[in-house]
Amino acid sequence: MLVGILIMPDSKKSDPSLPANRAQGRTVIPDSTFETLAIRDGHNRTHEGEHAEPIFATSSFIFESAADAAARFKGPEPSNVYSRYTNPTVRNFEERMAALEGAEQAVATASGMAAILSTCMSLLKAGDHVICSSSLFGTSISLFGNIMQRFAVEVTFVTPTDLSEWENAVRENTEMLFLETPSNPLSEIIDLRALAAISKKAEALLVVDNVFCTPALQRPLELGADIVVHSATKYIDGQGRCVGGVVAGRAEHMKELVTFLRTAGPSMSPFNAWVFLKGLETLKLRMDAHCGNAQQLAEWLDQQPQVERVYYAGLKSHPGHELAKSQQTGFGGVLSFELKGDQTAAWNFIDATILCSLTANLGDVKTTIVHPATTTHGRLTDEQRAEAGIRDSLIRIAVGLEDIEDIKNDMSRGFAAV
Ligand SMILES: *Cc1c(COP(=O)(O)O)cnc(C)c1O
Repeated sequence: MLVGILIMPDSKKSDPSLPANRAQGRTVIPDSTFETLAIRDGHNRTHEGEHAEPIFATSSFIFESAADAAARFKGPEPSNVYSRYTNPTVRNFEERMAALEGAEQAVATASGMAAILSTCMSLLKAGDHVICSSSLFGTSISLFGNIMQRFAVEVTFVTPTDLSEWENAVRENTEMLFLETPSNPLSEIIDLRALAAISKKAEALLVVDNVFCTPALQRPLELGADIVVHSATKYIDGQGRCVGGVVAGRAEHMKELVTFLRTAGPSMSPFNAWVFLKGLETLKLRMDAHCGNAQQLAEWLDQQPQVERVYYAGLKSHPGHELAKSQQTGFGGVLSFELKGDQTAAWNFIDATILCSLTANLGDVKTTIVHPATTTHGRLTDEQRAEAGIRDSLIRIAVGLEDIEDIKNDMSRGFAAV
């Protein structure tokens, strides 16, 4: 996948005796593909000659003189003052994420929820209206349904696959449309090109939570979205170590995000940024492998007599299968299924597995299993849960990279206990 050209190196940092792509400063490789950008972009080398990206474990930065201090505080050019404002390791991660999403700029945050909150606080004001998919990560529903409303931001939830609901929800003061696709946990596929047209007509921003696909499988900005948000905690880390988030989009919007982050403080730590940078280097490989295992598991589960229904867009029977093919390059690593039974059946199934980690996290090389109705979506009202289509017999699997036969064997232990 060809995604663009790396930004030119900072001429002040370049050593003229070295060819451009070996110079100090940012690596320049014309016409790089996604795989190459994920490994090479956003690496500002210091003068120490290190090969791997350094971790700048420092809260503040020293100035060369009183005049230099005054100039840096005055801005506007990005120079380091304090790590709540900027940090070189965090910037490396932001630059690499921007390259991978095809964004002008990216801004890292302390968590995925901080990415979503910062987007709202930076780009909305009291009196604005947001249209939200009702199939969102549970905490995002609480954020929009409870917290944002306390700040006089009106929110309407819509069935995300029904385009007419989005269209009919548009008001004079609609400033943002927010969604995830594929959705969590039911893998609904939402038409990003159609939503981009609706948001453009409404003169509102289309914000897409791209956690489930990552830019390795879906690039919403190319399909017309204005802003992409991520929980880097998931596939970007890939091994379940750190909590973090990122927002990517146009410079005019990211400028507002930077101002909010500096002032309100949900910035990313340099250590976490470094872990995420290293995670990006294997992102494409891992995503392809997650997709392969999830596809095999979904097809196998679909054959099991105790299964009522499997939710995975890689299945031809899934209503979003064709749409997913038109906007994603893979179907992702998360699937859900309903057992023929109730909550007890689902709990018995989960408790009988031994390989799967019983945790709400996803996007890890380790397969995880969870009961959405009583965990990730447990804080929703019964009405909100019903609206999101989360039944008591539903189990979500974030398929990891263990041997697929071992994963299936673990599922068999679950079926035996139902
Ligand atoms: C986990 C998750 C979030 C929130 O991210 P945190 O890093 O946990 O704050 C948001 N959206 C989706 C789809 C997620 O899976």
